[in-house]
Amino acid sequence: MVKETGYYDILGVKPQANADEIKKAYRKLALKYHPDKNPNEGEKFKLISQAYEVLSDPKKRDLYDQGGEQAIKEGGIGGGGFSAPMDIFDMFFGGGSRMHREKRGKDVVHQLSVSLGDLYNGVTRKLALQKNVICEKCEGRGGKKGAVEKCSTCKGRGIQVHIQQLGPGMVQQIQTMCSECQGQGERINPKDKCKVCNGKKVNREKKILEVHIDKGMKDGQRITFHGEGDQEPGLESGDVIIVLDQQDHAVFRRQEDNLIMKLDIELVEALCGFKRTIQTLDNRVLIITSHPGEVVKHGSLKSVFNEGMPIYRDPFQKGNLIIQFMVNFPNKFWLPASKLPLLESLLPPREEMSMMTDDMEEVELTEYTPNDRRYGNSSEAYEEDGPRGGVQCQTS
Ligand SMILES: [Zn+2]
Ligand SMILES: [Zn+2]
Repeated sequence: MVKETGYYDILGVKPQANADEIKKAYRKLALKYHPDKNPNEGEKFKLISQAYEVLSDPKKRDLYDQGGEQAIKEGGIGGGGFSAPMDIFDMFFGGGSRMHREKRGKDVVHQLSVSLGDLYNGVTRKLALQKNVICEKCEGRGGKKGAVEKCSTCKGRGIQVHIQQLGPGMVQQIQTMCSECQGQGERINPKDKCKVCNGKKVNREKKILEVHIDKGMKDGQRITFHGEGDQEPGLESGDVIIVLDQQDHAVFRRQEDNLIMKLDIELVEALCGFKRTIQTLDNRVLIITSHPGEVVKHGSLKSVFNEGMPIYRDPFQKGNLIIQFMVNFPNKFWLPASKLPLLESLLPPREEMSMMTDDMEEVELTEYTPNDRRYGNSSEAYEEDGPRGGVQCQTS
């Protein structure tokens, strides 16, 4: 049991969710509420990032499960406090090298929904994006040549620097955006402003990207379009990063390069053999056979070599197809009781029960209903009976 579920609720996962589920939930939400897409949801983006920061770290998650948000805030680990939401986002999506390339614009991350079949067969998808493009009319100056003058407040730097005394011999330098020129470092006389971009130097334009999804690509894989991000005068454009988001498939589940499927078979097939067909993700039909004499047990696994997912960048190689057989047992009274001895005579013999003795107790066997407290889980029964009952159960 966890103390609070707040962080789990923010990510929309259950407290027993595994690391993968938490990762996936964060990815979806972070992209949805990213300030680029949802400028008004900054607070929500922060909460999502905080929840992920805690739940993605086994130590912090433990601490949270035991002591709730309070325990995290008190900072049992690493002095507490949260990283900036954008840092977590960059860490997760790998855009974190921004510090080394300050002369670059921001990367833009988009999620692209794909089917398992898309990842199996490969596909090219067209994606329409809005992006800032340097204004052609004014060549990114924002106004007539010579009409642009340096901001006198910040001397054209776009930032103002404040020095703050933190303690004896310790100062902190804080940079803020210049309020006079909104960080532009320059001012344009309103009447000289470019009419096309209204002095903004860039225009919003639609751009179609062709996204080539190669065979064998994985859920969460990133496809980078270098320099396709927003253009900004004086800056190298950032990248557009497409993150693949694979939708669940009705039949197949992917595990690394293998495909896993469940196949229902009848009891007669499990015991007497069968031929079945399986439609592959590229619409071929495979025939699988269980020969007479083989027995396929309920829940057992078998695999078909080289019929899994294509290997990325080596698509002629494939993983394996793993089939889990689910045996349908017949319903009760499917066979008249008079015929049961006939069936029994064909089946492997049963083990006879040893002699009944007086110290044995005959009890009734009923259908099991998980929510019925009379038959509830063993730990509850144990507590109600007291420890003695439990010990007796184990030793008898
Ligand atoms: Zn312009
Ligand atoms: Zn300024």
